Amino acid sequence: MVGVSTSDVKSERRERIMKKPLNFILIGPPGCGKGTQAKLLADKFSLKYVGSGDILRGHIKINDFTGKKIANIINGGGLVPSFVIIKVFGEEIEKNKKQKVKGFVFDGWTRIIYEAILIDEALNWYELKNTKIILIKISAKESFDRLTKRRQCKNCKKLIPWIGKYKELKKCDACEGRLITRIDDNIKSIKKRLEEYKNQTSKSINYYKQQKRLIEINGEQPIEKVFKDILAKIK
Ligand SMILES: [Zn+2]
Repeated sequence: MVGVSTSDVKSERRERIMKKPLNFILIGPPGCGKGTQAKLLADKFSLKYVGSGDILRGHIKINDFTGKKIANIINGGGLVPSFVIIKVFGEEIEKNKKQKVKGFVFDGWTRIIYEAILIDEALNWYELKNTKIILIKISAKESFDRLTKRRQCKNCKKLIPWIGKYKELKKCDACEGRLITRIDDNIKSIKKRLEEYKNQTSKSINYYKQQKRLIEINGEQPIEKVFKDILAKIK
């Protein structure tokens, strides 16, 4: 008989954890860094990252009926209707179900309470289990600062967030190019986004909170620390 070493037992345990179904929904105010954390989680647990922004932009690219309408709405500063959000959400899961994806990290799908409820139905429909709802919290002031003060390299287009050590950069840390404030970050649309978050998204957050499903994380910390906190709280 071949003996089983402790390292075998350990790696077996790790494998069992990795095989367990796991999904994430990330919520948080504009500029909270949930996109970054979503991608870190997807990498860490080998999950499929599904961001609403990417999926909607994908439709604009295809330029089909829905794509054309989405482009019009987004260019006019409007909100894409919940019906379309839920439709493309379902399509994306359906597509990945065929490829037997272990789980998903959802970013930017529950802007209003109505969507939170329908997404719950979709998760149920597609039999996605063990879904962790993560709220990355930052203050309204921090949110505003991060959106208005973040910069972009004029040369290589790299985005420089308004967080921690990046605030001190005078030149692009990749190519030494000149840093400029992004043109699409105009104050009026930023204020509108923050207002929407305060009035609408807060209701979907309460929906999860009342069901005791919400995991709250302090987002006003370095990226690595925020990620560490998430890992500690999902255990
Ligand atoms: Zn650069």
